[in-house]
Parts: sequence; C-alpha cells; structure tokens
Amino acid sequence: MTIDFTCQKCDATFEIDVQDLSDGSEKLVCTSCDAKAPANLVEDFVAALTEMRTQVAALGKKFSLAMAFETEDLEDLDAKADEEDEEEEDEDDLDDDEDDDDLDDDEEDADEDEA
Ligand SMILES: [Zn+2]
Repeated sequence: MTIDFTCQKCDATFEIDVQDLSDGSEKLVCTSCDAKAPANLVEDFVAALTEMRTQVAALGKKFSLAMAFETEDLEDLDAKADEEDEEEEDEDDLDDDEDDDDLDDDEEDADEDEA
C-alpha cells in the first residue's frame, strides 16, 4: 500500500510505501525540500496505518476493498459531524413532547375512584 503525499510547502508530490514507513526504511520527508512532519505525529500516523492494514486484512475474508483518503475529504467529514450534532439537539426537543403521556396515567387513576 503506497500513499501519495503532496508537500504543503513546495507542492512536490512523492509516494511512500506504508511497509517502508512502518519498518523505518523510509522516512516521511519531502523529496524536494526536505520538509518533515513532527516525529510523534508520523509515529501515530504509521501506527494508525498499521492498524488499518490489520483490519483490512481481517475484513478481506468477506470483502476486498480499495479506498482513497484525501485531506480535503476529511475536512468535509468534520463539517458533516457538526451538522449531526445539531440534529441530536432537535431529538431532545421531541422527548419533551412524550411527557404528555403522563395525562394517560391520570385517566387510569379516575377509573380506580369509580371502582
Ligand atoms: Zn517540499
């Protein structure tokens, strides 16, 4: 699995194999201007990718897959997540309406008085 990177600094594109990244034979460094990501960030990134590979392999018994990740797409996801939070607030308003059901209990009490 190779990943295409685009350097935010100089716009150069290069690709690195995830396997090479995880075993340390290749570093996440811009091939053009030597820009680097913070070491702890790269570490977490490689760990996440390694976990992803494991899960994709496990899923492989049922489904094979090809996926594309783009930084721009992830920004869209963040925006959608915010919208979903707003919807959840609307659902809370609906719960208040259910309190009207308490009126039914009062009617049952009235029946008991007649008995
Ligand atoms: Zn660069």
